[in-house]
Formats: sequence, C-alpha cells, structure tokens
Amino acid sequence: MAKDFLKETRDHYDVVVIGSGLAGLTGANVLAKQGYSVLLLEHHYQLGGMATWFKRKGGHIFDISLHGFPVGMKKSCRKYWTQKIADSIVPLQGIRFENPQFSLRTTFTREDFTRIIIEKFGIAPQTVDEFFTTARKMNFFDDQDTTTGQLFEEFFPGRTDVQRLLMEPITYANGSTLEDPAITYGIVFSNFMSKGVYTFRGGTDKLVKQMRAELEQNGVDIRIRSLVEKIEVTPDRRVAAVHVGGRRITCGAVLSNANLKTTILNLVGEEHLDPDYLDEARAVRLNNSSCQVYIALKPGVGFDDCGDLLFHSEHTGFDVNAVLSKNVSSRTFSFYYPETRPGSDRWLIVSSTNANYADWANLSDEQYEADKQHLCETTLDCLEQYVPGVREKVAWVEASTPRTFEHYTRHQQGASFGTKFEGLKVSQTLPEQIRGLFHAGSVGIIMSGWLGAVNYGVIVANEVDKHLTPSEATV
Ligand SMILES: Cc1cc2nc3c(=O)[nH]c(=O)nc-3n(C[C@H](O)[C@H](O)[C@H](O)COP(=O)(O)OP(=O)(O)OC[C@H]3O[C@@H](n4cnc5c(N)ncnc54)[C@H](O)[C@@H]3O)c2cc1C
Repeated sequence: MAKDFLKETRDHYDVVVIGSGLAGLTGANVLAKQGYSVLLLEHHYQLGGMATWFKRKGGHIFDISLHGFPVGMKKSCRKYWTQKIADSIVPLQGIRFENPQFSLRTTFTREDFTRIIIEKFGIAPQTVDEFFTTARKMNFFDDQDTTTGQLFEEFFPGRTDVQRLLMEPITYANGSTLEDPAITYGIVFSNFMSKGVYTFRGGTDKLVKQMRAELEQNGVDIRIRSLVEKIEVTPDRRVAAVHVGGRRITCGAVLSNANLKTTILNLVGEEHLDPDYLDEARAVRLNNSSCQVYIALKPGVGFDDCGDLLFHSEHTGFDVNAVLSKNVSSRTFSFYYPETRPGSDRWLIVSSTNANYADWANLSDEQYEADKQHLCETTLDCLEQYVPGVREKVAWVEASTPRTFEHYTRHQQGASFGTKFEGLKVSQTLPEQIRGLFHAGSVGIIMSGWLGAVNYGVIVANEVDKHLTPSEATV
C-alpha cells in the first residue's frame, strides 16, 4: 500500500508553508518560533529546494548550489537559525578568472578588486572608489531606470575588461544582465564585496539536516512528497485552505515558496485576482536556468590547488548571450576539496553554465541524452587545462539541465534564480489581492540566492505574523 505522507496531519494550522526552499524553511522556522502552528509541505522527497545535493554509488556527494554566498548569510543563520549553523559558514579564498582578456586570482573583496582595477587595468583610484561607493549606497528605493550597463558606462566607458570582471560573477550568481536595473547589481555586488565569498563547511546535506532538526524542535509539522494542488480562496478573497494529496487543510495564512507565477496563476487561479494585477503577474519574466556537470574523482585522487571558484570563458568579451548559449564557451567551475566535508577523501568538480530552457525543452529522449553526453565530454575537455589527466582520474560524470531543475523544484522553465526585477512587486503585493496569502522565494534578483531567499523568508514571515491576529493563532 502506498505510504500516506500526510498521516496524522491536523485539519487546521495557523500557517501552511508550501515548499521547502531556503525562504520556505526560514519562514516556517521564524513563524514556529513565534508560537504559530506550522505545516510545511514539500513535493520532493528532500528538503532544501535548489539548496540541495545528491548521492551516487561509490560514496560521491554532489552539491547543486553550494558555490558561494555573501558573508551576510552568517548573521542571518545566527539570528534566524542556530549558532551551530552559522559557525559552519567559512570564507573561500581562491576566486579565479581565466578568459582571453585576463587571468587573475582574487579574494573577491573590495580591497582586492580596487587593487586589481587600479594596478592591472590602469583605472584612476578615485574612479574606482566612486564606483564602489555608488554601488554600496544603492538600495531598493533608488531610481530603477538606470541599467547595470549604463552604470558601468558611466564609470568605465568602453572598458569591456573591467565590466567583465565586475559583471561575470554576478551573472553567474543570479542570472542578471546588463539590461537589469543597476540597483539589482549594486546590492548583490556590494554584499559580496564586503567580505568576499563564503561557503558552508560540511555540505548542503549537513546544513539541511541541521535546519530540519531545528524546525522539528520548534514544532513544525514537516511533510515531504506532498504536492499542493490548490490554494482555496473564499468569495471575499481570503485564504481558506490548501488542497494536498486528497486532503483539505484549513489555515489562517499560506506562505508559498513555490514559483511566483505558479502560485498566482495555477495554485490560486486567475478568477480570484484583479485584472490589473493579473496582467502584471502574467508579464513577469522568469530568470534563466542552468546546466551543470558533476564530476567525482576516484577516492583519494585529487588535483593541485585550482582555486575554489573559477570563471572560465573562451569568449573575447563579456556577452550575456554567449553565457547562455547551448554552444558553451563560458563555465564556472567549483572545485571541492576533502575539507568541504571534513574527514572525506574526495575531490569533486561541478561545472555550471547558465542556460535557456527552450534549448532543452523539446528534444527527443534520444537527443536529450546525446546532448547531455556532449556537455559532459566538452566539459571534461575544457577541464583538462586545469586538472591535467582528468579523464583518467574520473570515477563519475553526469549532467543536469533546465529540465532537471524544473522536475525537482517545479519552477517554470527550471528558472534557477526566480524572476526578473518586476517579480518583486508582484510577490510583495499578493496579500493585497488575497488576504492571508504570502509569497517568499527567489524573485527580483535581489531576493534570490541563498542569502536573498533566507532574508526574504524572514521579511515575509514577519508580514504573516502581522496578519495573524492573536485570536486566530493557537498560541
Ligand atoms: C545550479 C544553481 C546554482 C546556484 N548557485 C548558487 C550559489 O552558489 N549561491 C547562491 O547564493 N545561490 C545559488 N543558487 C540559487 C539558490 O540556490 C536559490 O536562489 C535559492 O536556493 C532558492 O530558494 P527559494 O526559497 O527561492 O526556493 P527554491 O529553492 O526554489 O524551492 C522551492 C521549493 O518549493 C517546492 N514546491 C514548489 N511547488 C510546490 C508545490 N506545489 N507543493 C509543494 N512543494 C512545492 C519545490 O519542490 C522546492 O523545494 C543556485 C541555483 C542553481 C539552480
């Protein structure tokens, strides 16, 4: 008999959280700590959403999105999770760029970038300082018309090399382009520049295990393999219940961590929304997706120091279309040493490329497998220059595509970084359409990535708290 993953769930909760990405997990934790009864429903068999990992025969463990995040993650985890989780967040030192315009290593801090831009690229110190100060001062309420491209042209006109140094990692970090509002660049870039790039020692599996333990301790009812099919709304537009696995579970609020457009257009349904809002929601552009190649070396077999993150490109200048092209010429390699999981004897490499869903969506099964194989082979060819003899060292290679991300996280088109900028307003104003319905999850570039998702989870949990009057809560 099929296992009942909803066995003994209650008929009513103060809050139902749909999805266990970092925003959903954090929102659930904050609300449970405030005393609310919280049901967390996740369709996958694992918690974490994009913050995930998988295991393969032979003891290989691959991290999907553990490449780097800003230091702010340490503070957010300490405040909204546990000191133990925060203590595992450690800096990465070796960020590398290898492309036809330059080859360099950096700690990815403001000091080091300033030194490089002055010494290597010959830009006046005052210009560099003014650029960093401008980026640092940017916030959400600033002018949203200036694009990132215009910002660069203002400070570094015609300098595609400097623009590449400044932009390439951010394009990989959140899929943003030169056409996106400059504030989305300024906020994310400054977050990284404050103290460089950080990682979670022990791997994503350890992080999510610790988060799960904390959620359970705080009383969150966690259910995996539970796909929410519908958010039920009353005629006067209040959230009433969620429908999941043949059950109807009523609640005072829903916090959806599912894809923004899916939440609004599929789970709620268009008939419950104002026409203007509906138009805005329909017009929200999804961010792009990713392909990855996962490479595990034989136990105990390693490589010399390659750095931690390597932005490799064969393209002459920085070109977003080239970065997204299926004909890959740009890759980000993450090199994982045994210290990633202390006590392990494994060296692993994950190659990531931004990708367009359309390039992978409609291939026949045969063509899809062939194209994945091609991606694996060309990635190994490219890697040979950094890890000589890599083919002889390899124990496991496989690839994922936008279809993989769509399958596991149910993000439309496998969007890795939520939506473009306009998604933020649509996400924030959802409760004005349906009382008691909130969305938290990768949107608007600023709120994507590990740190953005965690922080957005906190912000929205506080809104949920305001909505739930004490009489509605079973405190
Ligand atoms: C390849 C790749 C590399 C990345 N690298 C980095 C990096 O190095 N640094 C960084 O900071 N960020 C990185 N990111 C981005 C980062 O992982 C995400 O922005 C962040 O984890 C998203 O969190 P989220 O809260 O938006 O939810 P998501 O991770 O999108 O999770 C949403 C959850 O909701 C669940 N769900 C959806 N619909 C339903 C439903 N109807 N019922 C039940 N459950 C549902 C999904 O299964 C999923 O678990 C990367 C992403 C990718 C894809």
